[in-house]
Amino acid sequence: MNTKQALKIYKDYIEKIKAFILVMETTSFDKMTIAPEKGSDYRNKMLSIINGELYELETAKEYVDAILYLSSQDLGEVMNREMTLAKKSLEEQLKFSKEEIMEYSFVQMDCMDKWQKAKLANDYSLFEKPLLNLIDLTKKRINKRNPKAKPYDVLLDDFEEGMDQKKYDEFFKLIKTELLPLIKKVNKKKDYIDDSFLYKYYPADKQAEFSKKVMEFINFDPSWGYLGLTEHPFTSGFSRNDVRVTTHYYEHNLAAAIFSVIHECGHAYYEHQIDPKFDKNLYIKRMSSGMHESQSRFFENYLARNEDFFTLLYPELQKLFPENLKDISLEQFIRAINKAECSLIRTEADELTYPIHIMIRYELEKDIFAGKIDLKDLDKEWNKKYKKYLGIDVPSDKEGILQDIHWSQAYFGYFPTYALGSAIGAQIYRQMRKDLNVDEHLRKGKFKVITDYLKKNIQRYAALYNFEQILNKATGEPFNPKYYIDYLKDKYTKLYDLK
Ligand code: ZN
Repeated sequence: MNTKQALKIYKDYIEKIKAFILVMETTSFDKMTIAPEKGSDYRNKMLSIINGELYELETAKEYVDAILYLSSQDLGEVMNREMTLAKKSLEEQLKFSKEEIMEYSFVQMDCMDKWQKAKLANDYSLFEKPLLNLIDLTKKRINKRNPKAKPYDVLLDDFEEGMDQKKYDEFFKLIKTELLPLIKKVNKKKDYIDDSFLYKYYPADKQAEFSKKVMEFINFDPSWGYLGLTEHPFTSGFSRNDVRVTTHYYEHNLAAAIFSVIHECGHAYYEHQIDPKFDKNLYIKRMSSGMHESQSRFFENYLARNEDFFTLLYPELQKLFPENLKDISLEQFIRAINKAECSLIRTEADELTYPIHIMIRYELEKDIFAGKIDLKDLDKEWNKKYKKYLGIDVPSDKEGILQDIHWSQAYFGYFPTYALGSAIGAQIYRQMRKDLNVDEHLRKGKFKVITDYLKKNIQRYAALYNFEQILNKATGEPFNPKYYIDYLKDKYTKLYDLK
């Protein structure tokens, strides 16, 4: 085999692999948005067959040989990185049989369905057995992949290359020591900010109209992006020019959909703005989870929870809901959407308490995979941590352990990337403010200047580099979570007039 032949084989195979992935992503988007519940057994079976066929492709001898050959060659920066990632993925794939892959895929999808039912019934006992089964299966898989490593380290690295418990421990220690005292102080001034008007009646159709205006403001273009509805907002990037985001309208919560749309559009931009020269690649398009989340939180928090972002938008919002907002000034609105409060639901948490929700999940996952927790008490352990860190009682399973979809999808090790992403976002924001007059561009509605900046400094690289390398390029220094802590301290000290 020579390089030219091997490259041809590689390219032919990944074209087919991408076709399979498109089918699976489309079906999964359909499942999450409009597919009727009773069809789920059939869909799960068909999808596990497709997964099996995909496995055949991914482990075909000539494809495997091509990857092994190419990863020993110098093919230039882009293809070298692609082959490093391809080889890593291949080595893991080859540890499992087709039957094991199909079984795992079926168990995962089934677990998701069971979670959905349990959440609807607000009854953890319906989900406990499938969850514990999935945890057990995940532990066995990790052991097979890498028997020498700490199990949770393997999972953390899956979602964020180069991260492990040691690094996350340090990160969360900082969160704990710096933010918990601040949260306590803010909590003492519970009623300092009035946000009651956000919970008046806001009809969904009018909220949808405002979402349109927000998307226009940030140039989220229907020629490459689509907004759908789901229980839990998410983004799915089929390709650079086909990115789907979803939201959920709560008629008694105005901010939820506004910020989920902005958040998901941040993800969508990342998918859309990667360098077109990577279109022919596969692995290099799988971006770091932390970096992905940094982009969504960048939109949602660093840009949108500001007066400048709403200078043009807020009058539109008032026009849509005059009965609720005509006497509320822009300043009052901004204060309300930044109110910090110890609460139960992660996705609705404010910027300040959000990382504590993540820390709770991180600590639980760490204990689960170190075998330090009695799995029969997982829901009780969850509740204990909410009491310990946020001082609140969890009144029901759906507001407790059943609130997130992640564990039902076997996304163990994913949560920490959310907090990491917030911290990465703070570092990028600090740099961007040095380079651009962010506030003025927002006030004038020149959002393209901002998305162009993100494209140039972050997004175009996709996974050509890991998150720390990209941060280094964009900000001239390594990852530094202190910027995140400083940002939150400064913001909430001012907002709550703390000493
Ligand atoms: Zn996100």
